Amino acid sequence: MVDRLGAGRCGFDVLRSRLPRAERVLVVCAHPDDESFGLGAVLSTLVDGGSEIEVMCFTHGEASSLGGGTDLAAIRAQELDAASQVLGISRTHLLDYPDGSLAAVPIDRLVDDITRRTSRVDVVVVFDRDGITGHPDHQQATRAGFAWARSTGVGILEWVISADVATALNSEFATAFVGRPSNEVDFEIVVDRGDQIEAIGCHASQSSDNPVLWRRLALQGDWEYLRFTDPVSDGSPG
Ligand SMILES: [Zn+2]
Repeated sequence: MVDRLGAGRCGFDVLRSRLPRAERVLVVCAHPDDESFGLGAVLSTLVDGGSEIEVMCFTHGEASSLGGGTDLAAIRAQELDAASQVLGISRTHLLDYPDGSLAAVPIDRLVDDITRRTSRVDVVVVFDRDGITGHPDHQQATRAGFAWARSTGVGILEWVISADVATALNSEFATAFVGRPSNEVDFEIVVDRGDQIEAIGCHASQSSDNPVLWRRLALQGDWEYLRFTDPVSDGSPG
């Protein structure tokens, strides 16, 4: 564990502009493309800093309304492999829980899945506990990441978007994004989106006709925001 993280959120007086060093990072997410559309710039920043990234993705994303009329599960598995290579992800574990119904899978089972596939991890990266887009699958994946982190004493970085970006998207697209005000953010970093954009291109079934994604990235500009939780002192969300 990196010592700067040991203090937990309450120890931070100001926003951190650089992510902490972590040798081994575990990403826990719901769908192929979450690692790129959402976390791509954060993960490439971590890789540039020397981190080894492992991704646990619980579904094949076969229920997506985009890319229909094809064997979406197989296509999205291939897309995830290609995007992982672009982002410098070392290992990807793609499980086969039903897309759209992850919230019905007991947390203990998801935690067991993580435990059986991972070894030493310094920090877990997840979506905002409210799911960013409000998707129940995202929320459940984050709950599983928190539960596993709590069982192992590992800190968690939650990727969040700003409240302003969420408000703009919801106004323009009638979406249900959930953002965070600045006082709920621990890290505010400047990113290079080059690898992320290339990785997004690997998920062609989901990105070729996705105006919300491109608008979100335009609104975010070069900025990414994260929260840090030390699950030993703050175990939420349950
Ligand atoms: Zn997703």
